[in-house]
Amino acid sequence: MTATRIDGKAFAEELRKKIAAQVAQLKADRGIVPGLAVVLVGEDPASSVYVRNKAKQTAEVGMHSYEHKLPASTSQEELLTLIARLNADKAVNGILVQLPLPKHLDEEAVINAISVEKDVDGFSIQNVGRLSTGQKAMVPCTPLGCLMLLRDQLGDLSGMSAVVIGRSNIVGKPMAQLLLGDSATVTIAHSRTKDLPSVCQKADIVVAAVGRPMMVKANWIKPGATVIDVGINRTDDGLVGDVDPAVADVAGAMTPVPGGVGPMTIACLLANTLTATARVNGLPDPE
Ligand code: NDP
Repeated sequence: MTATRIDGKAFAEELRKKIAAQVAQLKADRGIVPGLAVVLVGEDPASSVYVRNKAKQTAEVGMHSYEHKLPASTSQEELLTLIARLNADKAVNGILVQLPLPKHLDEEAVINAISVEKDVDGFSIQNVGRLSTGQKAMVPCTPLGCLMLLRDQLGDLSGMSAVVIGRSNIVGKPMAQLLLGDSATVTIAHSRTKDLPSVCQKADIVVAAVGRPMMVKANWIKPGATVIDVGINRTDDGLVGDVDPAVADVAGAMTPVPGGVGPMTIACLLANTLTATARVNGLPDPE
């Protein structure tokens, strides 16, 4: 069997087109243009590339993009002052602080200083709490993108058994919450999990968010299962995921790396910014 290739790149492109149309409509109907502020502290090369891509795609869907590039020496107080200014700025609907921050800064305090309504990364304690209690939340972009791909591929996830490998705050935990929200039966695996292959073998859905090149093997996967590969690993052979490509011989459907989950993340950031704009203006959430 060769697994269906879940084309995240094409899905993300369609999503961005839809968002662009909704942004145009919002402007035409109400004169509102969503604005996303991205804050980068220091000059980490990977972070700089991410921030550039975010700004480019924000502008492409017709939103305002505000880039704040601060030197690595920025103090906690200076950063918090900027966040407070962006919180108060009506033109800014979403605020994203690019992580990781330089070591001398308190990441948690910075994230929690972002107003809940503008926290488009969904990393603040309030949004995490809202997600886990089933209230309206800003949902972290990467797991949100994975959920969209899963729903598109499988339809109703209710009653399916899902294994999420990885328990980070940015991917694994919110992914598990989202799957639970869709009534899947969820297992969260991590580095201390015993006999991970047999845990995975029972799953209809496997989401790998580990950061270990090609760790998930074909004999771990139940024939026909859906496999989502979040991993981005830079190796001498180029970019590879957490899932061995040979899994495609067993799985029913699978995301490639690159071109799977990766492109969904920024598209979901734009979707979250549009949602934040709708909510602050008392409009229904965009479909
Ligand atoms: P973290 O390093 O924060 O978390 C990795 C998780 O994997 C941890 O929970 C860890 O367990 C678990 N783990 C490590 N080794 C094993 C093992 N041998 N068996 C089982 N579990 C293991 O990573 P992130 O969640 O931030 O990212 C995961 C991957 O996703 C990375 O490759 C990253 O680059 C990628 N990523 C991709 C994005 C995208 O846009 N496509 C966005 C964000 C991340 P423990 O908690 O016990 O240490």
